[in-house]
Amino acid sequence: HSENNHCAGCGVALQTEQPDQLGYVPAQALARTPIICQRCFRIKNYNEASGITLNQDDFLRLLTHVGGTDSLVVNIVDIFDFEGSMISGLARFVGTNPVILVVNKIDLLPKVTNYNRIVNWVQRQAKEAGLRVVEVVLCSAKKNMGFERVIEALELHRKGRDIYVVGATNVGKSTLINRLIRDYSDLDAELTVSQYPGTTLDLVRIPLDDGASIIDTPGIVYKHRLTELVSKKDLMKVMPDRPIKPLVFQLNDQQTIFFGSFARFDFVQGERQSFTFYVSNALEAHRTKLERADELYEEHRGVLLSPPSREELEDLPKLTKHPIRIPKNANLDVSVSGLGWIKVNGAAGAELAIHVPKGVKVAVRESVI
Ligand code: GDP
Repeated sequence: HSENNHCAGCGVALQTEQPDQLGYVPAQALARTPIICQRCFRIKNYNEASGITLNQDDFLRLLTHVGGTDSLVVNIVDIFDFEGSMISGLARFVGTNPVILVVNKIDLLPKVTNYNRIVNWVQRQAKEAGLRVVEVVLCSAKKNMGFERVIEALELHRKGRDIYVVGATNVGKSTLINRLIRDYSDLDAELTVSQYPGTTLDLVRIPLDDGASIIDTPGIVYKHRLTELVSKKDLMKVMPDRPIKPLVFQLNDQQTIFFGSFARFDFVQGERQSFTFYVSNALEAHRTKLERADELYEEHRGVLLSPPSREELEDLPKLTKHPIRIPKNANLDVSVSGLGWIKVNGAAGAELAIHVPKGVKVAVRESVI
């Protein structure tokens, strides 16, 4: 490779086609010398990290690298898509390094929320997933909630070590790193480059004042999240941008609720009961009879049942049915990765069916709220 093909900042191979991939540089910026990738350019000039993504293999290699260091690992997850944004196998890969779980986007939870309960819930969920964490911190990187605690936790646990920040895409990692750069890093020091073997990626280090660094890693793309499958335009509708107002439906069995053409919820069998839907309020709910649901979808998908539009629907996998049995006296949510969750309020149990684009993760879990 000639030097021209590589970023003078982080060393990554340059490309001009895909802005969200590593090594992107706008074609017109190729005239500059030295040539640096857009990611380094933003960090250097605006102290701003931007979301870069990696595939599964490269991401696991990156985590293996992290496991070989003596560092503090900060794993950012999204409270709105907890199951979908947890990194599977993280515990195995980071080895003995301590992990702080930073749960972002808590501004999306309803105004009246018991945060201690949420922390306890997250701790139980993490344990169930086999991830031992030294601390769970709730925050909103966007609305600047809980951020002092994030910094305190970093100081408490890092003990002079580097901090690796890892997360899935869209969890708000860039937003959070940008706050860390502004509030916590040593802005006078030079950004340096940290190499790890086996990939083309060199990591950007953001210096701290004691010589250690925060290391921003690319986000992993999980195709089991609805947010990774929809168009940019629909992403804004699927991802709430303000506190969720839960939608409560009193339903008899044999009733169906559609959320646009993204998802369909069937109450197949059980006593009349209420279901609370925690989904973006930009999505419209349509109620119908279960026996009418197939026909309604065939006739109205992408139009009355939108988003997505008809054309966008072509690009989505077909709806697939997930039958779910909720036992008696359970306190459970059904979560749909990237769309939200449904709290089941009946004590008598229920037979449900959730229809979502094929591949989207559906999980039953202890109720978060
Ligand atoms: P990254 O892909 O993990 O780097 O995520 P970004 O920082 O680019 O954020 C992804 C999306 O989530 C953007 O639309 C952000 O505005 C939004 N976002 C980030 N942090 C928060 C937060 O604390 N609350 C809410 N509601 N949205 C957030």
